[in-house]
Amino acid sequence: MTVVLFSWGEKIEGGTAEALTLAAGIAAGRGTQVRWVVTSALEQEARALAALHDVSRLDVIDASPRGVDACVTVFAAYCRARAPGVLLFNQTVEGRVVAARVAGRIGLPVLANVVAVSIAAEGLRVEATAYGGDTRAEYLLTAPRNVLSVVTTSIVARRAAEACQVEVEHVAVDAGATTAGFDVVSSPSVQAQRLEDAEIIVSGGRGLGRRENFELVKQMADALGGMWGGSRAIVDDGWIDSSHQVGLTGKITRPGLYIAVGISGASQHMAGCSAAKTIIAINKDPDASIFRYARYGVVGDCVELLPELIRAARN
Ligand SMILES: Cc1cc2nc3c(=O)[nH]c(=O)nc-3n(C[C@H](O)[C@H](O)[C@H](O)COP(=O)(O)OP(=O)(O)OC[C@H]3O[C@@H](n4cnc5c(N)ncnc54)[C@H](O)[C@@H]3O)c2cc1C
Repeated sequence: MTVVLFSWGEKIEGGTAEALTLAAGIAAGRGTQVRWVVTSALEQEARALAALHDVSRLDVIDASPRGVDACVTVFAAYCRARAPGVLLFNQTVEGRVVAARVAGRIGLPVLANVVAVSIAAEGLRVEATAYGGDTRAEYLLTAPRNVLSVVTTSIVARRAAEACQVEVEHVAVDAGATTAGFDVVSSPSVQAQRLEDAEIIVSGGRGLGRRENFELVKQMADALGGMWGGSRAIVDDGWIDSSHQVGLTGKITRPGLYIAVGISGASQHMAGCSAAKTIIAINKDPDASIFRYARYGVVGDCVELLPELIRAARN
C-alpha cells in the first residue's frame, strides 16, 4: 500500500519538503513507495522538488481544481481508483479542510495536528497535538488505511545526497463533477512574503494597550528587515486581520528570530512560534508564560521600550 502526499494550487506550499521527508520515512518503514500526487499546475515545480527529496513517483492529476470543493472531489476520485494506504496532507489552512473531507468521502479515519509518525508492529504510532495545543497525544493506528493532516514545523526536511530520476504518471480523473460550491469574492490583504517563511518576525499582543501602538511592532519588524504578526486577541479586537495571526488557528511559523511583544504566551499562540530558533519576549509581568519559552526576556512596558529598540535597530 503506497504512501501518498497531496498538493494542489498554483504554487507548492511551504512545508511540502518536510511532508515529503515524513512520507519517505513512513514508506521506508513499511517497505513500500511514496507517490506524490499533484494537480497539473504544479508539475514542473514538483518534478524538481521530488528529485531532491528522493521521491521517484509523481502522479500528476490532469486537472486544475479551483477551491476546496473541487480538490476534494478530484482527490477522492484518485483514492477510489488507486486505494493508497497512508494519505498525507500538509496542514495548511486549506489542507486541514481538504484532508478531513477527502477522508469523509472515501470512508477512512482522519487524524489532524500530526507532528510525528513512526512505525510500530501493529501499525502506525502517531503523535499529534491535542486540547488546542496544550498537550500531545499518542495514537496507535491499527487500521490498514489512514488519512493524516501533518503540521510540518517540527519536521526537518532531508535532502537526498543525489537527485533521483522522477517517473511521472498523468492520471485522468472525472473533473466534470468538480464545480466549486462557493466562490471567493474578496480576500484579506496579504504581505508579499508568507509569514510561515519569514526568518524574522515581530509579533504584538494585547499588552500593547491600543491599536495605534501596533505601529511600533510594524516599525520594529521593518527596522529588522522582518515581517510582523500578532496574537489572536488583537485579531479578535480588530487591530490586525487574521492573515497575520500566529498560532494554532493562525499561521504556524518557524523563524530564526521571533520577538513577542506584550504577548502572554498562551499554548495556542506558542503552537505557531515555538519552533523559532530564538524567542525574545517583552512583557511587564515577570511570571508571564512566554518567559518559559524565551531565550531572552525583557520585563518592562513594551510601549516605552519599543521606540528605543527601534532606534537601536535602525542604527
Ligand atoms: C481553540 C483556541 C484556539 C486559539 N488559537 C489562537 C491562535 O492561533 N493564536 C493566538 O495568539 N491565540 C489563540 N487562542 C487564544 C489564546 O488562548 C490567548 O487568549 C491569546 O493568545 C492571548 O493573546 P495575548 O497574549 O495577546 O493577550 P493576553 O493574554 O491578554 O496577554 C497580554 C500580555 O501582555 C502583557 N502586558 C500587558 N501590558 C503590557 C505592557 N505595557 N508591556 C508589556 N507587556 C504587557 C500581560 O502581562 C500579558 O502577558 C486560541 C484559543 C483557543 C481556545
